Amino acid sequence: FKKIPVGGHNQDELSQMTTTFNRMMERLEESFQSQQQFVSDASHELNTTLMIIEGYANMLRRWGTHDEEIRKESIESIYEETQRMRTMTQQLLTLASSQHKDSEPYERVELIGCCQQVVAHLKPVHDRQISIFTEEKEIWLDANLAKMKQLLVILLDNALKYSSEKIEIWISSNEKDVLLRVKDYGIGIPEGEIKRVFERFYRVDSSRHRKTGGTGLGLPIAKAITDAHQGTIRMESVEGEGTEVIVTLPQKQQERLPHQ
Ligand code: ADP
Repeated sequence: FKKIPVGGHNQDELSQMTTTFNRMMERLEESFQSQQQFVSDASHELNTTLMIIEGYANMLRRWGTHDEEIRKESIESIYEETQRMRTMTQQLLTLASSQHKDSEPYERVELIGCCQQVVAHLKPVHDRQISIFTEEKEIWLDANLAKMKQLLVILLDNALKYSSEKIEIWISSNEKDVLLRVKDYGIGIPEGEIKRVFERFYRVDSSRHRKTGGTGLGLPIAKAITDAHQGTIRMESVEGEGTEVIVTLPQKQQERLPHQ
């Protein structure tokens, strides 16, 4: 018998191709499992909120006409839970649409002005001091303006929710990147939990956050935005002292700037 070469490949090439193929399948399987987990977590979160609304609606039906106290509590809670559900569904839609990265147009964005606008926009909803620190007059980068504002709102909203004192935004740049840091002096995060806060639906203490209105989707959206901008995001925190979120964004986007 003669040895027949398979498709012109030798044994080494074949085993290399098999390894690559197996790795691709593993990655596909992981991504499929993570999508399944996401759908199941989202359903669970929405279902919990619905059950709470249903509970209060039942209380209203049974005792609402006679008991003023129950009436007030139920109406207030139903309102709060529907607000929470609305935030969550909007955030889920944002996360889903952030998978289609190329749909968002990029433009030249001046980051210091953008931060000032967001800070001014948030002023009516809190009584805290948010200060911007920078040594530069202007810092420009290729970005989607709406997404940059959304990123800042998420980070400032967290800083406001989990701190009682002042909040600082530090902005700087080098020849390639822009560095944005949002720093608060609030409750901080236990060391072991920091790496998990960018996971979807992860909350450091879930009971605490039903009160603060958190959903556990803010930081995953912030990460999706920085990923789409080819940047990075990370968090440093000391429990009881405060938290700092550090974002790095490239000044120039590669291969995808329709207006430049
Ligand atoms: P949430 O809507 O719950 O704030 P996020 O994804 O934005 O969801 O944040 C995830 C969790 O990380 C929060 O529930 C909170 O426990 C923690 N966290 C985020 N930002 C801060 C911060 N600035 N200080 C303390 N804890 C924070």
